[in-house]
Amino acid sequence: MPHSTPALTEADRLMTVCNSCRYCEGLCAVFPAMEMKRAFTDGDLNHLANLCHACGACYHDCQFAPPHEFDVNVPQVLAQVRAESYAQYAWPAAARPVFARHGQVLVLGMIVSFALFLAGFVLASDPGALWAAHREPGRFYALMPHNAMIALFGAAFGWMVLAVAMGARAFWRDSGASGVLAGDHGAAGRDAARLTYLDGGGPGCFNEDDMPKDRRRLWHHLTFYGFLLCFAATSVATVYHYALDRPAPYAWWDLPALLGIAGGIGLVIGPLGLLDAKRRRLAALRATPHEGMEYGFVVVLLVTGASGLGLRILGETGMLGPLLALHLSAVLTFFLTAPYGKFVHGLYRYLALARYARDMRRAHDS
Ligand code: SF4
Ligand code: SF4
Repeated sequence: MPHSTPALTEADRLMTVCNSCRYCEGLCAVFPAMEMKRAFTDGDLNHLANLCHACGACYHDCQFAPPHEFDVNVPQVLAQVRAESYAQYAWPAAARPVFARHGQVLVLGMIVSFALFLAGFVLASDPGALWAAHREPGRFYALMPHNAMIALFGAAFGWMVLAVAMGARAFWRDSGASGVLAGDHGAAGRDAARLTYLDGGGPGCFNEDDMPKDRRRLWHHLTFYGFLLCFAATSVATVYHYALDRPAPYAWWDLPALLGIAGGIGLVIGPLGLLDAKRRRLAALRATPHEGMEYGFVVVLLVTGASGLGLRILGETGMLGPLLALHLSAVLTFFLTAPYGKFVHGLYRYLALARYARDMRRAHDS
């Protein structure tokens, strides 16, 4: 079957080899899903690529891996297909080139927005306020009015949700995932929350060598749950502000602060672990052309978490202004670039798991 890119053509070749071999069928969801097909459309291959959690087990287990002439390297080829699928389904189409330069776009976005926030703080108050120690309640809003903050970040967040939803809808349609029931979503949610298929079939994930470990799962979990906790902190703070007339910042023991501190710690330790794992990763498992996107996404999460914790620790000192500008620039850059980078992988993987659950249910029922 003809395919639209060289990576998809190579993935088709590998899936055909693997379908004859089937040695790896107990390692993850990719191989059982593959075995249900004899021919693969682009949508099928994108589905399989997004089911893959890059645990590396099938590379180390494969008797046909390089230097064998069959040259079977499933994790690397599926990583390539997966990265290209993010661009293929992105909305609007005009923004697709951002994926190829995601790292540069993030750095540029952070620098420009940081400078604009600093300039805005000075214009909103006075130059001295930028480096002045603020201890009053609602001190963030002495630098940027609350309504301006809500308008800017509300619009950026709305754009992010719309663009990510449109991309996910295109992926969902192309992977033929109609007929997914609530129970399938439940199974997908459990597998996504536990990262079930990052365990290499049981022993752990293979990263820098042929010794399986569970660290990548730990770093992923810290990052993911840290992100959710930070989101919860912002949501609770919004309720405090509007429903209880209690503006930020909050004492360390108050709920938004506790959620934010726990989330911030996760968003520092998790991304640092992921960056270290990426640095150590075996060259044979990397999809090298897309590493700017991989690193950029993790770095912007790290800056968000670290600057949020910095605000908690130094928020009553003269560092409030620069730290707030850094934190806001990281969050704004994240919102605006998330639909065009690695952020979408979580949603696409969840959708791939939902289709997998549907396929398994149907196979079981028939
Ligand atoms: S990765 Fe290698 S060992 Fe595993 S199913 Fe494919 S061909 Fe067989
Ligand atoms: S790398 Fe891991 S998750 Fe991906 S196909 Fe191989 S065994 Fe499955």
